[in-house]
Amino acid sequence: MAGSTRTYLDYNAGAPLLDCAREAAIEVYSNSGNASSVHFEGRAARKTVEAARVTFAKLVDVNAANVIFTSSATEAANHALSPRIRAGGQTLTATKLYCSAIEHPCVLQGGRFSKENTIPVSVLESGLLDQDHLKTLLDNHDHSAGMPMVAVMLANNETGVIQPVQEIADLVHQYNGIFVVDAVQGLGKMPVLIKEIGADFSIFSGHKIGAPQGCGALVLSSGSLYPEPLLRGGGQENFHRAGTENVAAIAGFSAACNWHLENLTKIVRFNILRDWIEDEIASITLASGNGLGQPVFFGKSENRLANTSCFSVDGVKAEMALVALDLAGVSVSSGSACSSGKVRRSHVLEAMGASETEMEGALRLSFGWHTEKADAEKFLTAWRELVSRVIRN
Ligand code: PLP
Repeated sequence: MAGSTRTYLDYNAGAPLLDCAREAAIEVYSNSGNASSVHFEGRAARKTVEAARVTFAKLVDVNAANVIFTSSATEAANHALSPRIRAGGQTLTATKLYCSAIEHPCVLQGGRFSKENTIPVSVLESGLLDQDHLKTLLDNHDHSAGMPMVAVMLANNETGVIQPVQEIADLVHQYNGIFVVDAVQGLGKMPVLIKEIGADFSIFSGHKIGAPQGCGALVLSSGSLYPEPLLRGGGQENFHRAGTENVAAIAGFSAACNWHLENLTKIVRFNILRDWIEDEIASITLASGNGLGQPVFFGKSENRLANTSCFSVDGVKAEMALVALDLAGVSVSSGSACSSGKVRRSHVLEAMGASETEMEGALRLSFGWHTEKADAEKFLTAWRELVSRVIRN
């Protein structure tokens, strides 16, 4: 992470590398072997990968044999979103993918489903999935042609809103559908147990929990139901995912999982910090004397990730605020962290019915394991300075 004088409030984009994860990865880099080789170095690498599988499986409470390591959650999503599903000895067909309108682009793009077979499911103003809409879509699904596949994320990366995935899983399974859950933002920020999620396939990312970038996972709930492989070639990952394993990143992921197994209770304090910072943002903004109105906190009425606050103030543009905060040494993101580095209108807030002005001003703060009250105070000082300079048109 950048120099220690900076305040990093962008954990949902990428968490700072945990020391234990860095050390574990470096150790592998110094003794590297190919995990498929039979010699000493190869066996050592295999041991690291298999130990990591067990540790990650323990964190999400699943059988280690059901964990497939990937290069990222994006790869895991593209793997999971397959129209061809193997079940026992046969191949089943999923004809349409129904995915919530607020999914991360790696799911929203539909994986291996064509654009016309990727159907968005509405969300309510609160950010929760519109289950009536999903039900209507499933009622109208042509079951004679094939199964429906449904993808709904556990927690949204922009607003932190948590979906009742278990309830949605029950609905999808009533229609004999396959349920995929992007659990990326939940891990490390709330208890994430595969059985409680109820998904057939779940996806995860290492760098969101302090592991090195370049490692993710696809978790199968049952060893007998799995998507057709995305990457073909060698027999790695029990023939589910070809390609030499990124052993160093996997070792780092394992160390980060161990860290989270020991520190899960620390996340409780996020709630207190987030509620306090939201109250302060509101009072500083109203006291600015610039005629700025009440901030809108997106998803506030719902169960949210305790580390996430996404808000907008009419008259404060996100693009300008990001630069001003960055110059003040505070890293936050706009409502939508964009891969091209530009601030773009958020499809999540749009789906929630936010106005154009609200979307233009949306900022996201996301705390993490090392965030202290002093970091929040530094942000608030920069915010006070920022709103005092806003000139309303
Ligand atoms: N899903 C969610 C909810 C995310 O926030 C992200 C990353 O921002 C991803 C998927 C993609 O993860 P990765 O960077 O590992 O591909």
